[in-house]
Amino acid sequence: MKLRTFHTVAAAAVIIFATLSLVLLAQAPAPFTVLSREGRKPLPVTMINNQEYVAVDDINATFGTTSREDQLAGGLTITARGQSIVLTADQNVVSVAGRLVSLPAPAVRRDNRWFVPADFLPRALSSALNTRLDLRRAMRLLIVGEMRVPRIVARVDAGSTNVAVTFEVTPNTEARVTAQPGRLVVQFEADAFELSVPLIPPQAFLTGITPGDTPTTLVLSLGPRTAMHRVTTTQADAGSGRVTIDLLAATTEAAPTPAPSPAPDTRLVIPTQGPSSGLRTVVIDPGHGGEALGTQGPRGTLEKEITLAVSRRLRTLIESRLGLKVFLTRDDDRTLSADERSAFANNHRADVMLSIHANYAVRPALKGAEVYYLTVERADEEARKKADANSTTLPALGGGSRAIDLILWETAQARYLEQSAALAGFIEQSLAARVEMSPRAVQQAPFRVLVGANMPAALVEIGYLSNAEQETQLATAAYQDQVALALLDALVKFRSLLEP
Ligand SMILES: [Zn+2]
Repeated sequence: MKLRTFHTVAAAAVIIFATLSLVLLAQAPAPFTVLSREGRKPLPVTMINNQEYVAVDDINATFGTTSREDQLAGGLTITARGQSIVLTADQNVVSVAGRLVSLPAPAVRRDNRWFVPADFLPRALSSALNTRLDLRRAMRLLIVGEMRVPRIVARVDAGSTNVAVTFEVTPNTEARVTAQPGRLVVQFEADAFELSVPLIPPQAFLTGITPGDTPTTLVLSLGPRTAMHRVTTTQADAGSGRVTIDLLAATTEAAPTPAPSPAPDTRLVIPTQGPSSGLRTVVIDPGHGGEALGTQGPRGTLEKEITLAVSRRLRTLIESRLGLKVFLTRDDDRTLSADERSAFANNHRADVMLSIHANYAVRPALKGAEVYYLTVERADEEARKKADANSTTLPALGGGSRAIDLILWETAQARYLEQSAALAGFIEQSLAARVEMSPRAVQQAPFRVLVGANMPAALVEIGYLSNAEQETQLATAAYQDQVALALLDALVKFRSLLEP
C-alpha cells in the first residue's frame, strides 16, 4: 500500500517536471536591450547548451562591425574599428587584435550562422571597439560607453499613520518627484536604472511601485489614505544617495474640525539614556550588506565586504585590549536600513557608535581616509532645544512615576554633537598616524545612520575604493589592521574624555 502511494506520487512529480521543461524549452530567453547614447535596441539571445548566445550577424547590425568567414580554416573574422577578432568554431578562445581572450563557452556555427556566448560582448568586442560594454544580465541590459545607470533599491516601511518609501541610489543620482492625480512620478537624472522593489501587499497608502512611461521614471501608485507627501533627499555616503518619500494621511482625517496638533509618530520616538559618563559598550556598524553592495572598486572589490572585515578586526581588538562589550549591527551579509542600525545601537545602550565605510569618487585620483560626524540640517540650536524639550513622565515599576526623556528620532544625535565632534577629532588624529588621509579629513554630513543614534557617533570612510591603489590596500589584512588599531587608539582617547 505504501509502495503504491509512492508510485503515484512519483508519477505525478514526473508529469509536473515534464510540463515545466516544456514550458522552459518553449520560452525563448529575453533579448538584451542595448543601451547607448543613440537610444535602445534589442539584441536577440539564443540558448545553446544552456548558455546565452548572441548571433554574430546581430552584433554586426548593432555595432557596425563586419565579418568574413574562412570556410577552409573553419573560422570567422570580425572587423571592429580596424581591429580583428578571430573566432574558431567550437573553440572558447578568441583572438582580439592578436591577444587571446577566453570565453565561458565556445563559438558555435549553426544553420549557416555564427553564435558567440554573451560574455563575448564585454570580454572581446569591448576591447576591439575600445568602448566599455557592461553586461547586466539580471536587467537584460548591455550598456555601451559611459552611461549613467544607477542601481536603485526600494524599501517600504509601513507605520500606523504613514508609509515611508526609500530609494537607495548608487551612485548618488538627482531625483525629482512630481505629484499627479493618484500617483507620484519620480524622475532620475540618469540614462536608465536597475531597480529592485520588494513585493508590496496593497495597502491604504501605497498600491504599487512600477517603472514609469520613460526609462528613467518610477511611479508610486497611491492608495486612498495618502493625502500628502514629503520628500527628503540625503547623501547616504559619499557613493550612494537616498530619496525618502513619506506618504502621510490628512491630519484632519475623519474629523470635521482641525485636530489638535498631532503627537509625534511614536515609531520615531526613543528614550534617551542621558549623556555618556563612561565607555562600556561599543556598537560597530559595518556599512551596507546584503543587496546593498555599497561602492565597488574598479576590480570589483565590494565595500560591504571590506567594512565587515574591518569591523570584525576592530571588535577583536576592543574586546581583547579594552575588555569592553562590542556589538556589530551585522555579522553577516544582510541588508539593514540606516534606522535599523541606529536603533540597534540605541537598544544595546551603546556609549559610542562607529559606522565603517569605504569611499567612492568619480575622480580616480582621490584617496585617503575621512571621518564624519553629523551635521543637523536645521539650525543646530533649534534641534538641540527640541531634543531637550521632550520630557515625559512614565509609570515606574513598583508604583509612582519617573521622569524620562523622550526625544524625536530626528534630533537624537543633536545633543551629542560636541562629543561626536571630539570623537571624530580623535579618530582623525589616530588614523593620520597610521594611514593616508584625504585632504578633507574631518567633515560634517547629514548621514541618516547618525541621525537617530542616541550616543556619540562617527562615520569613518577608511579609504577610496575608486582609487585602484587603495582598492588593493583596503583588501589587505595589513591595512585593515592599521585602521582597526587607529580606531582602538581613538576609543582610548575618547574614554579618557568621558572618564576624566
Ligand atoms: Zn558606504
